[in-house]
Amino acid sequence: MSACVFCRIVAGEIPASVVHEDDDTIAFMDIGSVNPGHVLVATKRHAENLFRLDEASGAAVGRALVRVARAIEKAFAPEGLSQYQANGELAGQTVFHYHVHLVPRRRDDGMKIDWPARNPGRDSLEADAAAIRKALQQEAGGR
Ligand code: AMP
Ligand code: ZN
Repeated sequence: MSACVFCRIVAGEIPASVVHEDDDTIAFMDIGSVNPGHVLVATKRHAENLFRLDEASGAAVGRALVRVARAIEKAFAPEGLSQYQANGELAGQTVFHYHVHLVPRRRDDGMKIDWPARNPGRDSLEADAAAIRKALQQEAGGR
């Protein structure tokens, strides 16, 4: 069994509210959510950062990010959508598996994100995931 929490989510060993999945990528709600609609987009393969992936996988992650970000905008209509990523021990990371945080933002949120984040609970995460999945389907239909 892997010790990496995101590898365990990919393997289905830890529950997650998944919004998108393809051959290279999985996107799910962050349990430590800063704002409603906060999604983590992660690679399926264990790699610490984007530049440890092969180019095709890196491109696939980019494509998933674009789709998921647009679906979050459609579902939550935030005033901003921030993209955060850091990697490695020296960046204070706890999970060493490439992931991007997509955080819906409001004008009065302030510059710094609140941390530790709130834990909205599984029902709330599932409801947020369902709203994003619906928006993804609508966007796919419109393509
Ligand atoms: P960091 O390495 O600081 O980017 O933190 C890892 C991120 O993963 C944090 O935002 C956590 O809230 C999030 N996280 C950790 N465990 C889980 C999990 N089981 N499901 C969803 N998100 C998680
Ligand atoms: Zn991993």
